[in-house]
Amino acid sequence: MKKHNFSSGPAILPQSVMQEAAEAVIDFNGMGLSILEISHRSKEFVAVMDEAQALTKELLGLSEDYSVLFLTGGASSQFYMTAMNLLDSTETAAIIDTGNWSAKTIKENRLFGHITVVASSKADDYKHIPKTFELPDNAKYLHITTNNTVMGTQFQEIPTVDIPLVADMSSDIFSRKIEVEKYGLIYAGAQKNMGPAGTTMVIVRKDMLGTMERQIPTMLDYRTHVNKGSMFNTPPVFPVYVSMLTLRWLKANGGIEAMEKINIAKAELLYNEIDNNPNFEGRVAKADRSLMNVTFMATTPEAEAKFFKLCEEHLISGIKGYRTIGGFRASIYNAMPMSSVEHLVSVMKMV
Ligand code: PMP
Repeated sequence: MKKHNFSSGPAILPQSVMQEAAEAVIDFNGMGLSILEISHRSKEFVAVMDEAQALTKELLGLSEDYSVLFLTGGASSQFYMTAMNLLDSTETAAIIDTGNWSAKTIKENRLFGHITVVASSKADDYKHIPKTFELPDNAKYLHITTNNTVMGTQFQEIPTVDIPLVADMSSDIFSRKIEVEKYGLIYAGAQKNMGPAGTTMVIVRKDMLGTMERQIPTMLDYRTHVNKGSMFNTPPVFPVYVSMLTLRWLKANGGIEAMEKINIAKAELLYNEIDNNPNFEGRVAKADRSLMNVTFMATTPEAEAKFFKLCEEHLISGIKGYRTIGGFRASIYNAMPMSSVEHLVSVMKMV
């Protein structure tokens, strides 16, 4: 029996994408070969990589100034690769600290240059997004985590600053419209809104690169991958293929604008229940609630135990909050159908 998957990542993917991916594991495009066993230099796979990059550009409205890369090493490698490629040892990066992932960015960026944490909600257990901050003189970029997967907060207004934004969009890429011009670099692990774990998307404005004094190892230098179209070495073939299928699905379903509307409706339905059901309460500031990761608590231990049990009985999976936070987290990424959110709400009403 298929469960309703509210996992934070690896996470739900469109059912049709999984079906097509499963078929391609046996026979890709009628080649008589599996997608897993063909050369990454074959014309069939080169077409997959090209389409994945082209769909990303089309869906996000990226100009030719940007390159789309499919790398490995997870979003966690981008915590340092960004600074290694963009920040010289004498330069300063500004960072807004909105949760555990930003904290890791700060730690890793510090290895390469000066860091100013311009705002932090740590003292408030990261329950809100700081809105006011002052940039230091000469800051090279401002790093933000647009959606905080663990905390359940999201920048509802992306800061407007006169330096490029570097953004970790791991858990909200392709979920809403973005003003591309604001960004010098965007990165996102695939395993939430895009595909299986194993590839990380990097979108980089090409003029951000090549300004460094330092020597960068070949594989960690974005220019290597820009110049070779993410085919310098063997790319993560299957994660790229499935991501491409998800992007096709996204386009066929009306693109980001249509998806954003549905995402807002799904989140509204769920937050409404949290606010109106006396057995539950939201965890974070209402203005900063995430449309992707809905975090909430039970108001009593009895309600918590009962809800967990009901979830199990009603085929709801992945609802447990992050280990250090507790409570519940319902991740409602693009592929989550409204009917599953309705189902979750109906189970909440049974508590
Ligand atoms: N940033 C954010 C916002 C995340 O949610 C995650 C993982 N859940 C990461 C970074 C780390 O990603 P990875 O596991 O791909 O290194």
